[in-house]
Amino acid sequence: MKVTVLGAGTMGHGIAQVSAMGGHDVYIRDIEESIVDEGLDAIEANLQGGVDRDKLTEEQMADTLDRLTGTTDLKEATDGTSIVVEAVPENIDLKKNILSDVEEQVSADTVLASNTSSLAVTEIMSTLETPERGVGLHFFNPVHIMKLVEIVHAEQTSAETKSLVKEFIEGIDKVPIEVRDSPGFASSRLGVALGVEAIRMVQEGVAEPEDIDTAMELGYNHPMGPIELSDVVGLDVRLDILNYLREELGERFRPPQLLKRKVRAGKLGKKTGEGLYVWEDGEIVGVSGDVGEN
Ligand code: NAD
Repeated sequence: MKVTVLGAGTMGHGIAQVSAMGGHDVYIRDIEESIVDEGLDAIEANLQGGVDRDKLTEEQMADTLDRLTGTTDLKEATDGTSIVVEAVPENIDLKKNILSDVEEQVSADTVLASNTSSLAVTEIMSTLETPERGVGLHFFNPVHIMKLVEIVHAEQTSAETKSLVKEFIEGIDKVPIEVRDSPGFASSRLGVALGVEAIRMVQEGVAEPEDIDTAMELGYNHPMGPIELSDVVGLDVRLDILNYLREELGERFRPPQLLKRKVRAGKLGKKTGEGLYVWEDGEIVGVSGDVGEN
C-alpha cells in the first residue's frame, strides 16, 4: 500500500518508520524541506540503532529507507495513497483544514486517520465530505518501541474503515485496541485517573511519593509508578488533560491543588529538573520539598 504521513515531527517520523518497516511505500510530508530531512535523519538514526543492537539487518535497514520518500508537496504525498495519517500539531482547526485539503486530492476509498492524543475524532472528521473514511489512530511515543495503537472509532467511521485500519496496524507489528471516540480514549483516561489519585495521596500525606510509586511497581507490576510517570510526561501536560477531562467527564478529574501549585511555579517535572521529584541528568535524586497541602 502507499501510506502518507503528514508531519515529520516526533510522531510523524515514527509512524512513517514503522509503516515502511511493515513493507509499505511511505510518503512523509511536512511544510519545510529542512523538517522533512530532520525526520528522515531521525528515522535513519533509529534504524542504525536497531542494526547496532542486532534487531535489524543492514539489508532490512536499506530496504526500509528505500520505501521512504520525503516531500513538501501534498499532491506527490497523497497521489494514489490508500491511507493518510496526520501527525500535525494538536490543533483542531489545523487538523480539520489539512484533512479537508487532502480529501480533495485522494480517491473515494482512501482512509483518513488522525493521530490526535486528545481531540474528539468525530469533530475532526465532521468537515469531511465523506466522514465515514475518518478514524483515529493513536500511536505512542516512541513509535518504533511502543506496541500499542488505539484505534478510535468516530461516530461516522464505517465498518470498512474500521477493518482496514485494524489490518494495517496488525500488519505493521503493532497491537491495536478499539475504542469509541470519547474523552481521553482508553489509555489517557485510565492513566490520568491513576496519576491524579496518586498526587492527591501525596497532598494528603498518605504516603511518600517513592512509597506510592513502589506500591504500583511491586504490587501491580507497573514498570514505573504514577508519580514518576507524571513527572516524566510533564505536570503541565497532565494538568491540561485533567482540565479537559474534568470539563467532559466531571469532578473525579478535578486537578489537585498540589498539581496546580507545581505548574504555576514552573516545576513541571523531569524536563525542568523538578516536579514532584527532583531530577538531575534525567534521574531522580530526591523528593521535591513542597508536596504538602495548600
Ligand atoms: P511535532 O510538533 O513534533 O510535529 C508536528 C509536525 O507537523 C511539525 O514538524 C510541523 O512542522 C508539522 N506540520 C505543521 N503543519 C503541517 C502541515 N500542514 N502539513 C504537514 N506537516 C505539518 O508534534 P508531535 O509531538 O509529533 O505531535 C503530532 C500529533 O501527535 C499531535 O496531534 C499530538 O497530540 C499527537 N501525539 C503526540 C504524542 C507525543 O508523545 N508527542 C503522542 C501521541 C500522539
